[in-house]
Amino acid sequence: MEYIVEGPIQTPVMGIYDVIVSGGGPAGLAAAISSARLGAKTLLIEKNGWLGGMATSGLVHPFMPSYAGDKPINKGVFWEVVERMVALEAAVHPDDTKMGTGQTGFVVWPHAHVTPFDAEVLKWVIQDLVEEAKVEVVLHADVVQALHEGNTATGVVIESKSGRMAFMAKQLVDTTGDADLAKFLGIGYQKGNATDGSMQPATLFFRLAGVDRQKIDAYIKANPEERHFKTFAQKAISDGKFIPSKHDILLFYTPREGEVAINTTRVHGIDGTNVFDLTRAEFETRRQVRILVNFFREYVPGFEHCYITTTAQEIGIRETRRIIGEYILNVEDVLDTHQFADNIAQCAYMIDIHDRKSTQLFYTPVPDGKSYGIPYRCLIPQNMENILFAGRCISATQEAQGSLRVMPPSFSLGQAAGTAAALSALGQVTPRKLDIEKLRKTLVENGQVVDALA
Ligand SMILES: Cc1cc2nc3c(=O)[nH]c(=O)nc-3n(C[C@H](O)[C@H](O)[C@H](O)COP(=O)(O)OP(=O)(O)OC[C@H]3O[C@@H](n4cnc5c(N)ncnc54)[C@H](O)[C@@H]3O)c2cc1C
Repeated sequence: MEYIVEGPIQTPVMGIYDVIVSGGGPAGLAAAISSARLGAKTLLIEKNGWLGGMATSGLVHPFMPSYAGDKPINKGVFWEVVERMVALEAAVHPDDTKMGTGQTGFVVWPHAHVTPFDAEVLKWVIQDLVEEAKVEVVLHADVVQALHEGNTATGVVIESKSGRMAFMAKQLVDTTGDADLAKFLGIGYQKGNATDGSMQPATLFFRLAGVDRQKIDAYIKANPEERHFKTFAQKAISDGKFIPSKHDILLFYTPREGEVAINTTRVHGIDGTNVFDLTRAEFETRRQVRILVNFFREYVPGFEHCYITTTAQEIGIRETRRIIGEYILNVEDVLDTHQFADNIAQCAYMIDIHDRKSTQLFYTPVPDGKSYGIPYRCLIPQNMENILFAGRCISATQEAQGSLRVMPPSFSLGQAAGTAAALSALGQVTPRKLDIEKLRKTLVENGQVVDALA
């Protein structure tokens, strides 16, 4: 490969903060809001022109269950979002989403207590929360470098329409989903499965309106084993049509009458940190959307008059980098519902892995009614001070990540990281040396469930 050498660059320092959060998805929002509410001067940097990450840009829907039995376990900032959305009639309360309905994707178990929501209204709600907390925000800005002195992180560099700029901080939080700052800072990470590094397929969500839900419900009631329209998919395949997800046509009712969100495009062999793979995935899934819209209209009862309203602004990536932290959460921790002295969040969502090579889905539930703890050590990298990670890129094996990657725990992990970063910045300690009991107490005071509910 040929290289060019760019000249020395002088980068202006645009601000100095207590805490800088990179990435404004579920984890980043909760991190920035929690940090600013504690009085830390907080900057949130996001590459898109709006906040919400996969919940808005990816049209990912619904918020997956965040209950252990009948008790909600991802509260705090996530719960504030849910309650504001319900008050605006833009979400269905998770207490009210019953198993086996279209809101739960017709899956009988364990998809009860999902939160269907309107992604456009969510953009308003999260913007309100961020502004009320007095988080400073820069949108349309890619974090392209992280700065450090020795093994202490000190700031980030962004690229935007205004050029290259630096922002310095006492504490950094990486909520990019991809652990981009780990790469910039030389922090250890893993990708994909242990044998060949392969990752789950990528999916572009889309929404259809003009759907006759009564007709679909009547069909599923009469044919419960057909809740994922397998026979229609097979019929279309035998008619020579290409259906990307042969086994399960995954769809969820949104809170809007006549509308469904569809999670059924698939591209395998994608590394979401490789721009060429991402380009291929966007083109391929958009091609699949067109095929699927025609499939629904032609084959599935209730969809005869449906039409497309939106595709996601960007491809959905289920997994990429996971940092190697002070503790690596593993499958036994999840399935044994292990609890830790440094729990900072709970999760009860099943291990949900879309096969890397086939269209098969692998679901392994957490024991009914129970939840597992996520230790603070999973947010702390091994070899760098003053930086924490939250969301789908924390320190976990691929199987454990298959459970904690969904949005409610991502909010909780973000709340923990933002709280820890603010306490560290204000108390002049490194996150590694932070008083864990003080962190856990502050989280509980701010609505977070940190230990398993009795
Ligand atoms: C296809 C698919 C289906 C899913 N289904 C569900 C579901 O039904 N329910 C559910 O609860 N969860 C679901 N998930 C999981 C969930 O959406 C994500 O795992 C979750 O959003 C992770 O949150 P996060 O904050 O870690 O990352 P993200 O939501 O990815 O947010 C990261 C943010 O950082 C920004 N960013 C990234 N890099 C940079 C950079 N260098 N500089 C600046 N900004 C940057 C991004 O633009 C984004 O806003 C699904 C995921 C996918 C992909």
